[in-house]
Amino acid sequence: MDLLPYLLPLGTSFRVEGLVIDAAAHKVIVELDAIAASCPCPSCHQLAERMHSHYWRSVVDLPWAALLVHLHLHVRQFFCDNPACPRKIFTERLPTVVAPSAKRTLRLAHQQLQLSLALGGNPSARVSTELDRGASRNPLLRLVHRLPLPEPEAPEVIGLDDWA
Ligand SMILES: [Zn+2]
Repeated sequence: MDLLPYLLPLGTSFRVEGLVIDAAAHKVIVELDAIAASCPCPSCHQLAERMHSHYWRSVVDLPWAALLVHLHLHVRQFFCDNPACPRKIFTERLPTVVAPSAKRTLRLAHQQLQLSLALGGNPSARVSTELDRGASRNPLLRLVHRLPLPEPEAPEVIGLDDWA
């Protein structure tokens, strides 16, 4: 039975190219190729198929038991062929896996955010270090600070003290 589809957050948009276990470092590196035939331009949303180049991107994912998981993503840059679009070249977006320029997957960031909200700064940083061995308090606080603020509720009754 192939466990990888259950362990990886990738759906059908990637193909597993390699898997290396570094037992000494308690780390697994999964190499993945992006395989979607086209990608929407982030500016005009027109599907682009003409590839410009490749590059490697490394992100940390949720651990597999005691193994730290690094995903090495072989992602692409595309030409936007829409003449009305100001963007000529763009990097493939992976909206279900990782935010642009992020160093950790969305699901790892989500778990670390939940830890930060439940435990606070220093305790959550200690627990999060178990998840990615690199999270410090500041990245976790940035995750918390990115949360939208709740809308304030309008008071039902305004007393005299509220005017003071
Ligand atoms: Zn475009």
